Amino acid sequence: MKILVINCGSSSLKFQLIDSESEEVLAKGLCERIGIDGALTYTPAGGEKEQYEKAMPTHSEAITYVIEALTNEKTGVIKSLDEIQAIGHRVVHGGERFTSSVVITDEVKAEIEACNDLAPLHNPANLIGINACEKLIPSAKAVAVFDTAFHQTMPPKAYLYGLPYEYYEKYRIRKYGFHGTSHSYVSKRCAELLNVPYDSVKTIVCHLGNGASISAVDRGKCVDTTMGLTPLEGLIMGTRCGDIDPSVIEFICNKEGISPSEAMTVLNKKSGVLGLSKGLSSDFRDLQGAADSGNEFAAGAIESFCYSVAKHVGSFAAAMNGVDNIVFTAGIGENNCIVREKVLEYLTFLGITIDKEANAVRGEEITISTPDSLVRVMVIPTNEELAIARETAALV
Ligand code: ADP
Repeated sequence: MKILVINCGSSSLKFQLIDSESEEVLAKGLCERIGIDGALTYTPAGGEKEQYEKAMPTHSEAITYVIEALTNEKTGVIKSLDEIQAIGHRVVHGGERFTSSVVITDEVKAEIEACNDLAPLHNPANLIGINACEKLIPSAKAVAVFDTAFHQTMPPKAYLYGLPYEYYEKYRIRKYGFHGTSHSYVSKRCAELLNVPYDSVKTIVCHLGNGASISAVDRGKCVDTTMGLTPLEGLIMGTRCGDIDPSVIEFICNKEGISPSEAMTVLNKKSGVLGLSKGLSSDFRDLQGAADSGNEFAAGAIESFCYSVAKHVGSFAAAMNGVDNIVFTAGIGENNCIVREKVLEYLTFLGITIDKEANAVRGEEITISTPDSLVRVMVIPTNEELAIARETAALV
């Protein structure tokens, strides 16, 4: 079955066409600057990347161009739209309503809309993508795969904040967690690679990208995660501050004469390693380069990030009363061996010893701990699109 995987952001749309039997990516691409001007990149399997500037006032035009690219005579990979049997949509927030992926109906769309409050930038964009695909590719069955669903197994002691309980009852203020598709894929893949039952191991997944989160997966169930009501909580990230004393917000507002919503923009967009490096960069390649040339703030930002990761891994080992596997994934987790080494240096108390040679390998599924390490440490590249295609295939 050919499955189109769609990941809509507020001004972007990423897509992959995947053959669900062979799990081969037939074509992939990205629409950017939707609502501003518009640009499409498209790469068919085995072919060259193509780039076009196209007017994209809305996601509807973007999807029209995606269809054009997929079906064009020269570099298209399908003859007609009928070949797309299903569409898997990434949806950021499923609130407490969605504990797994679902076939999209009008009722499901209304429930996704009801979660808009919880993800005001993402869920409306996801719905626009769903509606545009429904209009333009009506024959394909559509499935919603939620970022939050995997974390819905967390117990109340993990997801409740220490706030008046009525806020949870009235507004559903609680920890939800994100990157669920990645945490689920990577933790399952870890068990598969080790040839052990998923429900027999305790695994901590470190999804370290520009957005970063960690999850504790206790015998097949997520029992805790670092992101919260929104993706701002937890680790120090590329531009997000992660955990801070909430009083900081009022303090900044008073000192800088800014509103709470302006302060939130600072915490989301100007903080993290970008903020700590005095605005140098949110990208770890830039930070590493600067640190190597003696920039103490870049070096300090990397150190704070690694400390933050190690501290949360330690807390999740306590949450599960032990850990069998620690897995690194996403841009930094897969590629940055210096970060991995620094994080693991903090964790020698768990009996971890690192195999430095294996740790130098990049972007591969690999064990980077030594055979006598008490906890196995692995790198497993994430593949959210494939995970979405699998969920979609299973439901349709
Ligand atoms: P997101 O999907 O959250 O935008 P990514 O998972 O792409 O983020 O991760 C971005 C981070 O990963 C950046 O800090 C970047 O430096 C790092 N990264 C990505 N690819 C590489 C690579 N090939 N080599 C080194 N670092 C990389």
